[in-house]
Amino acid sequence: MMHSRPKTLMMMIRTEEVEVLFLPPGGGGGDAIPITRVYQGRLNWDAAVMPRPQIPSIDSLLAHPDLADAPARLAVQAARLAVDQLRPEALAGKDLVIDDFAACAKSALIQLTSMRTRPAINLTGVVLHTGLGRARLADAAAKAVADAAESHAVVEFDLETGQRGDRQSHVEDLLCELTGAQASLVVNNCASAVLLTLTAMAKDKEVILSRGEMVEIGGSFRMPDIVRASGCRLVEVGCTNKTHLKDYADACTEETAAFLKCHPSSYQVVGFTAAPIPELLAELAHDRNLTLIDDLGSGCLVDSTKWGLRKERTLAEAVKSGADVVLASGDKLLGGPQAGIIVGNVSVVKKIAKHPLARAVRIDKLTLAGLEATLRLYREGREDEIPIWRSLGRSDESLRWAARKMAGAWSGQADVVRADSRIGGGSLPGMVVPTWCASIVPNSADKLARALRQSSPAIVGRIEGGAVLLDPRTAEADEIQAVCRKLKELSK
Ligand SMILES: *Cc1c(COP(=O)(O)O)cnc(C)c1O
Repeated sequence: MMHSRPKTLMMMIRTEEVEVLFLPPGGGGGDAIPITRVYQGRLNWDAAVMPRPQIPSIDSLLAHPDLADAPARLAVQAARLAVDQLRPEALAGKDLVIDDFAACAKSALIQLTSMRTRPAINLTGVVLHTGLGRARLADAAAKAVADAAESHAVVEFDLETGQRGDRQSHVEDLLCELTGAQASLVVNNCASAVLLTLTAMAKDKEVILSRGEMVEIGGSFRMPDIVRASGCRLVEVGCTNKTHLKDYADACTEETAAFLKCHPSSYQVVGFTAAPIPELLAELAHDRNLTLIDDLGSGCLVDSTKWGLRKERTLAEAVKSGADVVLASGDKLLGGPQAGIIVGNVSVVKKIAKHPLARAVRIDKLTLAGLEATLRLYREGREDEIPIWRSLGRSDESLRWAARKMAGAWSGQADVVRADSRIGGGSLPGMVVPTWCASIVPNSADKLARALRQSSPAIVGRIEGGAVLLDPRTAEADEIQAVCRKLKELSK
């Protein structure tokens, strides 16, 4: 059957290359001739005489010396990415050779083979930067994590008896000693500590929370939502700025199980404010046979005023004022790994530990090792080895020296300027400490900041008024040197 030749043939292109063969009329004998040109998804019959764009086959790319040594699976992935990336240019008629595709595949390969979770030098001026993993661990804690990772570790094993032991006992003595609590439980993070505690202590019952403490922690963790997600009925009392003891007392019913206190760790209400004295709230809770849950968040174990900061309520103070259970993060002002700390009365902590959800939010051996080592530093009075406190304790002179070094490494315009470091990570809101920054003024601050971010380790500063500000507060001496080397290289 003979067809008349269509003027333009439209078709959808699904694969990366489509070859349409022209069969000479009559069908008999003769080779099929490739005659098509693929153009923006449309096959143009009339363009049959045009050359096909030069898109190399995956096989030919894999044979290229740039990719020859790469692991096969990754090389295929990289080659496909390169072809995908350059195809539009090739189709648009740009003259590309196989080396262009290979170079593109090679950089894709570097991306594919580099760790995404990689070290960063934090020069943002935010000491606890959630995007950069909050607290960095003390050397002793990092070593404990590495040791526990590299080998089998004594996690739930009693070396005395050779029997199954208790994972929590590693840190329980330390936490009790440091907070004055009777018992402790550590879980995955503070969010899960809140969820677990509410579920175990108040499921299907009412939980009273002040409107002044309806906190959103970030990452869509909102106190009222968590209360509901824990199966509790939320009872709001008081106003944003003022809640009185009487408000709590009046709201109590037969159905009430707990008062929940939530530390406004990431914001401040100032001015005409009031909240009940914690001791009196605890007294009221115990009068009514209720549990007082105090979500402290920041997890401070030391007197923050020693570092020139505002007074931050400590875990010990919260325990002392009569809360039945106090909750905190491991990686905020405690300066340890991500963890949820639960300390309090034996009976309450036992009840929480027995709840099936406790197993679902169990702490892992690496965190346990890092947390134990961090707590040991506190017990030994070695807080200055914990990076958060070391950062906050840096002298003005050493900050200025480091800022000068960095500014000096840039061959263009650069100054040393006064600025503020912040605590961040949902701790001590509004609190700033004076620092010195290198202020680099490149042609494009965006471009320089990007180049710094993409170096290895990633160097993260902040942009302010056309300059890249680099705050040395949270960087160690070797990191400052690495930054200087990079700045020299980039300003060449
Ligand atoms: C930060 C914070 C949390 C959440 O802690 P994560 O360890 O990040 O899960 C909960 N409550 C308060 C008051 C906090 O400040």
